[in-house]
Amino acid sequence: MVRDQIVARGVTDPRVLAALAAVPRELFVPADSQAEAYADRALPIGPAQTISQPFIVAYMTAHLDVLPRDRVLEVGTGSGYQAAVLAQLAGRVDTIEYDAALSAQARQRVEGLGIANVTFHVGDGSAGLAERAPFDRIMVTAGCPVVPDRLTEQLADGGVMLVPVGEADAQVLLRVSRRGGRTYTDRLLECRFVKLVGRYGWDA
Ligand code: SAH
Repeated sequence: MVRDQIVARGVTDPRVLAALAAVPRELFVPADSQAEAYADRALPIGPAQTISQPFIVAYMTAHLDVLPRDRVLEVGTGSGYQAAVLAQLAGRVDTIEYDAALSAQARQRVEGLGIANVTFHVGDGSAGLAERAPFDRIMVTAGCPVVPDRLTEQLADGGVMLVPVGEADAQVLLRVSRRGGRTYTDRLLECRFVKLVGRYGWDA
């Protein structure tokens, strides 16, 4: 998977590849999708939820440019796979999911792997996680109608956020960087995530 889907498409940072190699993806997909755990696509993990395609996880992890002491927020825990990958690179990861059952399952998997620097939160991540802010890095893994202001506000100076923004069924991955009270936005690639719902997301 790493060689054919990820290195072949340009993600070559050895730290990112090592992080991916350290997390067994098959533990994060449902029993009836086991055979497809390493296939080149997203897989369903619930009614309106998916575990992202391996390439997108790799691409976003690489472009978030996580440093070893970083405080990272992930919005949209889902299966917990992306959080487990980020945990290999960051100082600490907070991940928020509005579906309590999914969050509990994700937590069980991640803790079962002995990963101890991820904190699981249940709630509306469209408003971020003010009590743990600021964050050096924020990764949003659900598609947003606009960049949620609350998330931008929770970025530390020098912080970076990756966020898919656009229509409900097709988005562009944006990188929002905060420097000295100003924000800079660039467009990275076209992508397709399930909807971010909640106060600053789409109507459920
Ligand atoms: N990062 C996940 C994939 C996320 S799929 C993984 O590695 O498996 C998107 C997730 O965002 C879904 O689980 C969905 O329930 C969640 N979500 C949608 N809106 C949300 C919100 N406002 N707050 C928190 N989670 C949300």
